[in-house]
Amino acid sequence: MDPHDAWLATLGQLEIQLNRATYETWVAGAEFVAYEGDTFTVSVRNAYAKDWLEQRLYRLVQTSLSTVLREEVQVRFVVQQPVPRRRFTRLDEDDDEDFRPPGSYAAPPPRATLEAPVIEKPALHFTPTGRFNADYTLASFVVGAANELAFAAAEAIASAPARQYNPLFVVGGVGVGKTHLLHAIGHALQERCLEVLYVSAEDFTNDFVRAIKTKQTEAFRNHYRDAAALIIDDVQFIAGKESTQEELFHTFNALHNRNCQIILAADRRPRQIDALQDRLRSRFEWGLTVELSAPDIESRLHILQQKAAQQGADLPLPIAELIASRLRGSVRDLEGALNQVLAQSALTRQPLTRDYAEAILSDFFHVELNPRVRLGLEDILHATATYHQITLDDLLGKERSKHVATVRHIAIYMAREELDATLPEIGRALGGRSHSTILNSYNKVCEWIASDPTFDDNLRALRQYLQNLAS
Ligand code: ADP
Ligand code: MG
Repeated sequence: MDPHDAWLATLGQLEIQLNRATYETWVAGAEFVAYEGDTFTVSVRNAYAKDWLEQRLYRLVQTSLSTVLREEVQVRFVVQQPVPRRRFTRLDEDDDEDFRPPGSYAAPPPRATLEAPVIEKPALHFTPTGRFNADYTLASFVVGAANELAFAAAEAIASAPARQYNPLFVVGGVGVGKTHLLHAIGHALQERCLEVLYVSAEDFTNDFVRAIKTKQTEAFRNHYRDAAALIIDDVQFIAGKESTQEELFHTFNALHNRNCQIILAADRRPRQIDALQDRLRSRFEWGLTVELSAPDIESRLHILQQKAAQQGADLPLPIAELIASRLRGSVRDLEGALNQVLAQSALTRQPLTRDYAEAILSDFFHVELNPRVRLGLEDILHATATYHQITLDDLLGKERSKHVATVRHIAIYMAREELDATLPEIGRALGGRSHSTILNSYNKVCEWIASDPTFDDNLRALRQYLQNLAS
């Protein structure tokens, strides 16, 4: 096997086996350099990637590559030399013909005219499907309020496909776990020995276009209509693509008629996808549409701890809390931040302090050093106490009078809402109260807000007071 191809195949394997943030941060873009004796040399983007690959991913890369090559090799990583920017020669630098305007550029050399080679029609290879990222399972999917329903539907399908929800349509923004959930269902169905096809809508489109070009639409149909389950990711891609939509419509019907499970994901609901044929939209809405949103702070913490554990890394709780409170949107960014923080501290051998982690986050993610309200947890507790005319000591102490208890509940609610502080953090700041006590208080305030509009007005005034203090 050509070593260049072997490396590309290995990259393909790694992409499937690693989670996406790890793959993209450390592996993507690595290039084959040389294969001499039993040493296979690969160049990577920078010294961080080199270290990370050598220290954490060496065995995985080495075994994947050896398997592809069918012989045991050692892998050597080198840092890519920056490629000098290609530069056109300015004519006035080496040619003093003065009738040309200064700054005009030399025309590129004329292209050699090529005879179109005669290529034999190749057999059509479809996008490989049915290979799932080993990290994307139902067990590793952290469930919280943001994704409960979607997860329950995924579990139901995994245990009884094509029974209740067909199709399942998963909607969510970037990096909230759509692909993870789709792979997880795919895995689970495959374990039941069902033939599962997983493609992105883009791959489906490309396969279809190639099938038309090479006059092999029959093979295309056999391939896509023959599965027990079809999973299509990023369906929004087919917006405006008439012939792909037409084909997908027939594929959908063929599978649905045979009682095969169909699962789709997109960054928006079917009716928000522009230029989607009505009949396809109505098919997509036949089953269940579930939404994934950005996970809450507890889930983000849990995800971070799980991803760190997957890498065998040690992630101190305060650092996890810092990352989880600063990166609130995409889980992919959350993972990217985690990887950076772990890598930088491993490489520089600096202890992972809060300040150091803050500096890394602000360098790489331009995350604001100051949270939304420029008040710390203690400031919020103190200000809430003052606002309600009690002392901080009362608030932190054991006093159970109705007024003090109410203020305590409110302070907890504010800390959580305004700072996104975690339950354990708030518990610690309130003199070591348990996380369930904190949760009870928070829920109590939520109930009061729901049942009493004047209570909500009161909170709004307090929030304004906090904001004035902060600015
Ligand atoms: P999307 O397809 O919605 O853009 P992905 O499924 O690619 O997002 O998720 C991005 C990353 O975040 C993946 O590494 C995935 O494992 C992780 N992730 C997202 N949601 C969760 C979750 N609830 N539990 C665990 N990991 C998650
Ligand atoms: Mg995705």
